[in-house]
Amino acid sequence: MLQESIEPAWLAAFEAVLARCALKPGDTVAVLAESQSRPVLPELARLAAARLGAQVFSVLLPTVFPASGPAIRSTGASPVLRGIGPVVGALAGSTLVVDCTVEGLMHAPELPAILKGGARVIYISNEHPEALVRLLPDDATEARVKDHVKRLRGAREMRVTSAAGTDLRISLAGAVCGGNWGSTTRPGTMTHWPGGIALAFPAAGSVNGTLVLAEGDVNLTFKRYLERPVTLRIENDYVTAIEGQGVDAELMRSYIAAWNDREAYAVSHVGYGLNPAARWDSLALYDKRDFNGTELRAFAGNFLYSTGANEVAGRHTLGHFDLPLRHCTVQLDGAAVVEAGRLVE
Ligand code: FE
Repeated sequence: MLQESIEPAWLAAFEAVLARCALKPGDTVAVLAESQSRPVLPELARLAAARLGAQVFSVLLPTVFPASGPAIRSTGASPVLRGIGPVVGALAGSTLVVDCTVEGLMHAPELPAILKGGARVIYISNEHPEALVRLLPDDATEARVKDHVKRLRGAREMRVTSAAGTDLRISLAGAVCGGNWGSTTRPGTMTHWPGGIALAFPAAGSVNGTLVLAEGDVNLTFKRYLERPVTLRIENDYVTAIEGQGVDAELMRSYIAAWNDREAYAVSHVGYGLNPAARWDSLALYDKRDFNGTELRAFAGNFLYSTGANEVAGRHTLGHFDLPLRHCTVQLDGAAVVEAGRLVE
């Protein structure tokens, strides 16, 4: 549907985001891409960095394809760096890394070394630029995310309920909480664009209850709106039953089982969307190949539940579901931050 040529408005948006990352003339910018990257993204990043007067260089790595097993989607753990020392060194020594890998470096094993070098990293989600431009970082979302990260860090428990039947208790003791607003100015930090999420990686044994995915909720690994409800029973972090009739439940049972890995059933992260520019209905408007779904992770008032890897709980797996839900109430120590799917201001 959409073409991937350079448009003036898209270049302007990239320039605005890099400027928001406090890029100055003479700074070094590494544009990291892989052979399967959407070509227009590193190209826009390279041109925008050059227009800001930065010293820009490109790193292009071959995409890594697993020899067997299920297709890997939306893990946020790009394997392309493969621990290659000179590459990690070049990225770590740069002022800014513009991460145009397909999955992103958020959970890549090399990320800590890159950040330790003092680089800041911005992952450009593998979206069509037309979507990125609609979701430019702004001051209000940045302030809102920072506020909610503070609240998450100060809370002992997250409780999530819904009219559809969700009733989850999540202990935040020992959780690592964070957030993203789409830009970063601090050395040694990472963000992603689009942003607008606050989330927690709970410690082991923190999540219990029932999660009901209702019609219209989303499985972003499949890039599908659910048409029939699916009920997940969760005991001490692990999904112990996936109940429901129809293809949505069947797809979830099938793909999660394909990993043949108990950790794929456990909680990865929990959080909620804080970006009023992000829309729940956008997935209906794009071809799947044009869409990586960060907009649906970020739309204001969602509850985002994810299964899969969670470093805080010491669990590693490649199976990952990101499940944005509408119409939930999210409480932190009894105070609602989201009320029936609406952000409490
Ligand atoms: Fe996720």
